[in-house]
Amino acid sequence: MEKFDLIIIGAGPGGYPAAIRAAQLGAKTAIIEKEELGGTCLNRGCIPTKTLIAGADVLEKIKNAAEFGIKVNEPEIDYSKMAARKDEVITKLRGGIAQLLSANGVQSYEGAASFLSRNRIEVTNGKKKTKLEADKIIIATGSVSTMPKFLPKSKNVVDSRGFLELDKLPKTLIVLGGGYIGCELACMAAKLGVEVTIVELLEDVLVLLDKDVRSEVKRHMTKDMNITILTGEALKNIKAAAAGVSGTAGKNKLKADMLLASVGRSPVTQGLKLEQAGIKLDDQGYIEVNDYNRTSAANIYAIGDVNGGPQLAHAATSQGIIAAENAITKTSRKNETIVPGVIFSSPEVALTGLTQARAKEEGQEVIIGKYHYQALGKALASNEPAGFVKWIVDAQTDQLLGAAVVGAHATDLIAAASVAIRNELTAEEIGHTIHAHPTFGEIWMEAAHAVHGKAIHAAPPRGLHKPTAKKRKI
Ligand code: FAD
Repeated sequence: MEKFDLIIIGAGPGGYPAAIRAAQLGAKTAIIEKEELGGTCLNRGCIPTKTLIAGADVLEKIKNAAEFGIKVNEPEIDYSKMAARKDEVITKLRGGIAQLLSANGVQSYEGAASFLSRNRIEVTNGKKKTKLEADKIIIATGSVSTMPKFLPKSKNVVDSRGFLELDKLPKTLIVLGGGYIGCELACMAAKLGVEVTIVELLEDVLVLLDKDVRSEVKRHMTKDMNITILTGEALKNIKAAAAGVSGTAGKNKLKADMLLASVGRSPVTQGLKLEQAGIKLDDQGYIEVNDYNRTSAANIYAIGDVNGGPQLAHAATSQGIIAAENAITKTSRKNETIVPGVIFSSPEVALTGLTQARAKEEGQEVIIGKYHYQALGKALASNEPAGFVKWIVDAQTDQLLGAAVVGAHATDLIAAASVAIRNELTAEEIGHTIHAHPTFGEIWMEAAHAVHGKAIHAAPPRGLHKPTAKKRKI
């Protein structure tokens, strides 16, 4: 039986970076994957959605070309070509991961892993069974879409994976669930001409966002993209047939060609035989870990979606690197706490650190510095004037605690805010940092000045004519 320093189960954005880091640290490392390298993110999540959304954005730009003085004929969509391009991007990136693993000397095994004991793993690939041994093990088996039992089984009722595999879009679509995945796919489909209705049981879609951010996104989704958003209603009486699906949401009778269920994710632990290694699950079925990603079995770590953390690819990657370092070296590093969230809706949204609502819940006195895209030269030059950014700042110390962006390039802009918050910078320091002009990035500087009522390119807030800051309680 081959023995390793570290075995990693699952080669998603949590598992494969963990393997590479362990190998960089000189550990004899193996990785086991039962489907494709890259996991959900590369094959059925982040990358396919963003590739298709990039296509939908091109269409939108062409449609708005006349505003730049460019005349174009009515564009035609070839969705099967868009889907083929998505597959090409995935294949290229997957090949890159295989090369990196091999270049770093990581031994890859194809098949499903299960525990024989705390140090022994069995890999099953068809009839072939391979036994492996390791001092340390990292579980990175991710999550899958939750498909509630009340949904009829039909080719017209799909999860995000099924939706991303289509080579033809439906004309009409019901999206069940207004979380970030549901909203991203709803916006993408709507941009490509699909008539979309979102049904959300909670009082609103994208509930993790502050209300002002949410309202801005919703305004665009409903007004510019004609998406119907029904909130506070359960989808009931769901029926599916060859011709399509139907259901009711409150008083609304809904009919569509297809239903996309996007109601959450479930951890992948089935078949791992965790009990053989003494690994405990929490009451929702996620693997219980401490701040160092260690499970109830001291030599075994669990990272990424399967431990019930933020369920984002970059969070999985960070946890994977930390777990590999903790497993292989004598370091004991805790997980990072500043985890940005990005939503590729239309417009894009991003947030990092504390939200304004959370600050209020925690009784923390904060000042808000907001700045709107419409006052930004680059935003007007690019014809992308909708949206705003805001800093959430400690009223006593001026330290930056959180930030949010809604508008063009939000998902790229948020990185600068994360760096500032992680490094405990103050609003004054960001205000003093020279930001290049004209760029979208300088919006952070203006918003930092706005914290103290001193934004240069904005009228002073009402009732704040003197340049001294007035602390406003939220
Ligand atoms: P996964 O990526 O799920 O990888 C787990 C791997 O383990 C899989 O390849 C699986 O086959 C393998 N595996 C499972 N069990 C076994 C076993 N017994 N033996 C061997 N292998 C096994 N996140 C973002 O940050 N940004 C986004 O824009 C974004 N968009 C998304 C869009 C969609 C539609 C979806 C569904 C998700 C999106 N996510 C996004 C979430 C992101 O994909 C996940 O957070 C991320 O993939 C989790 O990484 P992971 O390594 O924990 O697990």
